[in-house]
Amino acid sequence: MKKIAGLFKRENAFRSMKAEDANACEAYAKDYLSYLGIAKTERRAYDEAVRRIEAEGFRELSTFKVLKPGDKVYRGYHGKTLMAAVIGTQPVAEGINVIGGHTDAPRIDLKPVPLCEKGGLAYFDTHYYGGIKKFHWLVHPLALYGVVVKPDGSKVEIAIGDKPEDPVFQITDILPHFGAEQSAKKLSEAFDPEDMDVLIGSLPVADKEDDKDVKEKVKLNILRILEREYGLTEEDLLSAELELVPAGMPRDLGLDRSMIVGYGHDDRVCAYAGLRALMDLPTRPRRTGMVLLCDKEEIGSVGATGMDSTFFENSVAELIALQAPTLAKAKGSMNVQTPDLIVRRALEASRMLSADVCAASDPHFPNADSPNNMAKMNAGGCLIKYTGARGKSGASDARAEFIADLRRIFAKDGTVWQAGELGRCEKGGGGTIALFMARYGMDVVDFGVPLLNMHAPWETASKFDCYMTYRAYRAFLAD
Ligand code: MN
Ligand code: MN
Repeated sequence: MKKIAGLFKRENAFRSMKAEDANACEAYAKDYLSYLGIAKTERRAYDEAVRRIEAEGFRELSTFKVLKPGDKVYRGYHGKTLMAAVIGTQPVAEGINVIGGHTDAPRIDLKPVPLCEKGGLAYFDTHYYGGIKKFHWLVHPLALYGVVVKPDGSKVEIAIGDKPEDPVFQITDILPHFGAEQSAKKLSEAFDPEDMDVLIGSLPVADKEDDKDVKEKVKLNILRILEREYGLTEEDLLSAELELVPAGMPRDLGLDRSMIVGYGHDDRVCAYAGLRALMDLPTRPRRTGMVLLCDKEEIGSVGATGMDSTFFENSVAELIALQAPTLAKAKGSMNVQTPDLIVRRALEASRMLSADVCAASDPHFPNADSPNNMAKMNAGGCLIKYTGARGKSGASDARAEFIADLRRIFAKDGTVWQAGELGRCEKGGGGTIALFMARYGMDVVDFGVPLLNMHAPWETASKFDCYMTYRAYRAFLAD
């Protein structure tokens, strides 16, 4: 890597890569594309992450009797939230390095009682998830993913819309010829989410004697299909998690192929970078390196699988418990009689990069820009000292000492990075999982990939920024 001028100027540094880095960057982008195309829901992101780390020798925590330096371990909650770690030579009790990202993404969920018929057409009733511009989701082909669980515990996996032979689904919109009334409304009021039902069928059931009195014949036909092809009844849909996401695969963007357009970069682009960084760690790092991939960030990190739960502290406690026997032997007693205090100290002594995307400056929307303090495309991963809105409200504002240490780590690695904030003062704002981790007293700051059109069905990232974010995570975990 040549010397980069651009930490402050956020200059385009894509061309500063030497040939070997450029090759590594392209290979990285290719593998990320393959991950992103599979990880279209938080459950699929979890399964794909487990598949990849198991191939690298990671094992489920419950299979260990004791943890030794170099051990590769993972633990999950409900097939959605994942912790993976490489055990360091220093005890977990003395603090760990964490990369924490999320794998849920804005989408359109099905309601608990979704199936309905209106005007001779069959629909699924929906309730959107996360911060979306509703009109983005109209008209485009949608795929349906998720699970239906039956009272006997059996699970039916649904994945319809991404194989070439699959049908897709659509939320329809009014044609421009009759759109005057809609166009006159404020954008925030023009689209009623209760009208965002997704079209799933138009054929009535084939006429049979026993269906004669049924009014909703198109819905009945869909029910017959669900029963025949998936073994499901209408009641089974009560215990389901079904998500509509954009149909189609992520791909290169631009004639120069320098960017990637895909669904769910936020935050699978950072989740993947964290996973790769962990898998590429030295065999026996000094401090334990951990990657946390959590769910429900897009709705405030609430719930059992969100970072507001006890998952992280419980996971750290489990690691410490499995190190206690060796520690007791090595250090005499190691206070194994006060494990809760050891866990608290470990959390305080830990440090984390909150691995989440940020907004990249878009020349078409200068009013949202903070010209000297907003991420630029191709200027590397972006460190966001604080998020929040209106006077940093709701922010976890990282301390200068921690950022100074990150400067040392990143400079040593030669990774290209930039610093900024989410956008112009008082124009908006946002949050990540940073504040949920900061409450343990640990150092935490946001660092991730800048995106164009974040939270749109198709988001855009630069390959260079994706690769440099991975490099930054790797350097941080190995420190
Ligand atoms: Mn995010
Ligand atoms: Mn988000």
